[in-house]
Amino acid sequence: MSADEEAIEPATAFAALGDPIRVAVLETLADDRRSDPDEPGLAFSELRKRVGVRDSGRFRYHLEKLRGPFVEQTDDGSYRLTYAGSEVATAIVAGTYTERATLGPTDLDSDCELCGAGAVGRYDDGVLSVRCANDHRLFVWSLPPNAASGATLRELVRTATLDLYQTVETIRAGTCPDCYASVETRLEPTDGAGQPYRFRARCEACGSTLDVPAGCCLVGHPEVEALYRRHGRSIRDGYWWELEFARADAPVERVDGDETLRMSVGVGDETLRATLDDRGRVTATDVESVERE
Ligand SMILES: [Zn+2]
Ligand SMILES: [Zn+2]
Repeated sequence: MSADEEAIEPATAFAALGDPIRVAVLETLADDRRSDPDEPGLAFSELRKRVGVRDSGRFRYHLEKLRGPFVEQTDDGSYRLTYAGSEVATAIVAGTYTERATLGPTDLDSDCELCGAGAVGRYDDGVLSVRCANDHRLFVWSLPPNAASGATLRELVRTATLDLYQTVETIRAGTCPDCYASVETRLEPTDGAGQPYRFRARCEACGSTLDVPAGCCLVGHPEVEALYRRHGRSIRDGYWWELEFARADAPVERVDGDETLRMSVGVGDETLRATLDDRGRVTATDVESVERE
């Protein structure tokens, strides 16, 4: 939308979706975009035919309700999705608005970092959660129902883990992954037992929050990834809560009169020490090798 166009109220925009024909238009245009991503667009008559409405006047009425927020016309007069239209069409495909999926409970063959009891995962109502028998929370993440369709719980955990890593990396770069506003991060202590430091962010624009163990600051850092690779391991394989440095109780040291924080990552005979500022940004790293007998 150009600056001189009138802004549309969200309630008005969403009211425009209140008819099955309009939803079918979005789905049809999304199909068209998938089959011709470089030059998406359907002429009025073709779009009407594919949606399956015979009355041209009635179809035009509904199409006009979408034009602006969700659908736009190209120079040659054909219709295609706007950015918002694509987002809504994608959410429809992902089942965000309509589907309900349940998976688990499934024993994940992994132990709780705090008490050693077995980790059990379940997915219900859009939320994946991994807890132990003593109800310690190991991992909680939101995913749309489509992520769960045809997947096992273990596969869903893997999808959620990749999503978590991407989210952390985007937030650490200062951007909210949900609405793309700037976001400030904090590395701060908590009073909760066994949770000395958390990496946190809250987007003032959309209210989205992130609250994960301090070690998440280190995910995606090239030196940390390289350390794992040198020892034939990958941070991205295996369960997220089993990474020692990402455990909720992984120690964070205050150094230099509280200005600086330090975390250690040990793999094999090497220990990487990362220096962090209070926003969770890595400012320096050094690696120490220990001779073991
Ligand atoms: Zn536990
Ligand atoms: Zn946001």
